[in-house]
Amino acid sequence: MNSKVEISQLIRDNIRDLVPYSSARNEYSGSASIFLDANENPYNNPFNRYPDPGQLELKRHIAGMKGQQVENLFLGNGSDEGIDLLFRVLCEPREDNAVIVDPTYGMYGVCAMINDIKHRRVLLNKDFSLDPGRVISEVDNCTKLIFLCSPNNPTSNSYDREAMIRILDAVNCMVVVDEAYIDFSKEEGMLSLVPEKKNLVVLQTLSKAWGLAGIRLGMVFAHPELITYLSRVKYPYNINSLSLEAAFKQMRIPGKKKEWIDTIHRERDRLVIALDSLAFVEKVYPSDANFLLVRMNNPLEVYSFLKERGIIVRDRSTVPLCEGCLRITVGTPGENRKLCNALIDYGKTPKTDR
Ligand SMILES: *Cc1c(COP(=O)(O)O)cnc(C)c1O
Repeated sequence: MNSKVEISQLIRDNIRDLVPYSSARNEYSGSASIFLDANENPYNNPFNRYPDPGQLELKRHIAGMKGQQVENLFLGNGSDEGIDLLFRVLCEPREDNAVIVDPTYGMYGVCAMINDIKHRRVLLNKDFSLDPGRVISEVDNCTKLIFLCSPNNPTSNSYDREAMIRILDAVNCMVVVDEAYIDFSKEEGMLSLVPEKKNLVVLQTLSKAWGLAGIRLGMVFAHPELITYLSRVKYPYNINSLSLEAAFKQMRIPGKKKEWIDTIHRERDRLVIALDSLAFVEKVYPSDANFLLVRMNNPLEVYSFLKERGIIVRDRSTVPLCEGCLRITVGTPGENRKLCNALIDYGKTPKTDR
C-alpha cells in the first residue's frame, strides 16, 4: 500500500480553502411537507423541484451494486465531468502536470489544455501493452495525475493489472484508471483496490454497457477525502432529475444490461471472423471492449466507401501506433450484417471504380 500519498497535499490551495456554495437542498434535506426554501415554482410537480445535490439515493444503489461505500463515490455529468474536476481540484495551471498514456481517449489531453495544465505523453508498447517503468520515469514533483484507460480506447486491450499496481505503488500522485468498458471485459478491473490504494481513482460510466450515454452519468470511485473535494467543486445540481430517474429505471432491470453484453460479445466474435476473412484487412486487434480496432492498407478509402453506404466508423489512422486503423463499434446483428456486406462489396469493387 502506498502510504506516502497525502491527498490534502495534492489538492490545490484554493480548493483546500474553498467554502463551497451551500444550496437550499444542502442545508435542509430531510422530509417535510412544505418546502418554501428554494424559490421553486410550487406547480408542475415533480420537475419544479431541484434534484438532490448529493444524489444520495442513487449513490447508495450504485455503491451497493459495486461493493463500495457511498463515501467512495462521486457522480458526474458523464465521466467527462469527473475528468475535468480532477484537473481542477488537483492541478495548478501552468505549474502541475499530468501523464497521459498514448494512444488513448482524447478527453484527458483536451481537458488538460482547457485547464492550462501541461501534460506528458508516454507511448504504449507496439503491442499496446503498458510499460510501467516508462510511465513512472515521466513523473516528477509537479505530476498530480496519471491517466490509464483499461480496456483502452482505441486499442481495445486491457492493461496488465500488476503493471498498473506497480505504477500506483511507485508514485506520489493520483492514478486514474478509466474503466468505461469494464463491463465488456474479462478482467476484474481495479475497483476492489479503491479501499486500500489511497491514490487510485477509478472512472466508470453508464454510457456504454448500461446503454445510457444520453443521460450523462459517470462515476468516480476514490478515497473519501478526494471525493469530498470533487463534491465541493461540482455544480450543486450536476445530475438532473431526468437522468436520476432514467438511471433508477434502468437499474431496476439489471438483466437487460447482461443480455446486451452477451449479445455484443457474440456479435463481436462474429465480426472478428468476418473481418479477418477480408483480403484488405491486415489485422483485427483482440478486443476486451465493445469495439474493434482494425488495421488495413487503405483505411480512408474504406471509411469513405462505408460512409457512402450510410455506415459511419471512426477513423483512427492518424493516431500514433494506430496507423492504418479504423475503430468499429459492435452494433446490432442487423447493423453488423450490413457492415460486413458493405465491406465484402468494397473488396469486390475493382480499384478503378472505388
Ligand atoms: C466512452 C468513454 C467514456 C465515457 O464518457 P462519458 O462522459 O461517461 O459518456 C469515458 N472514457 C472513455 C475512455 C470512453 O471511451
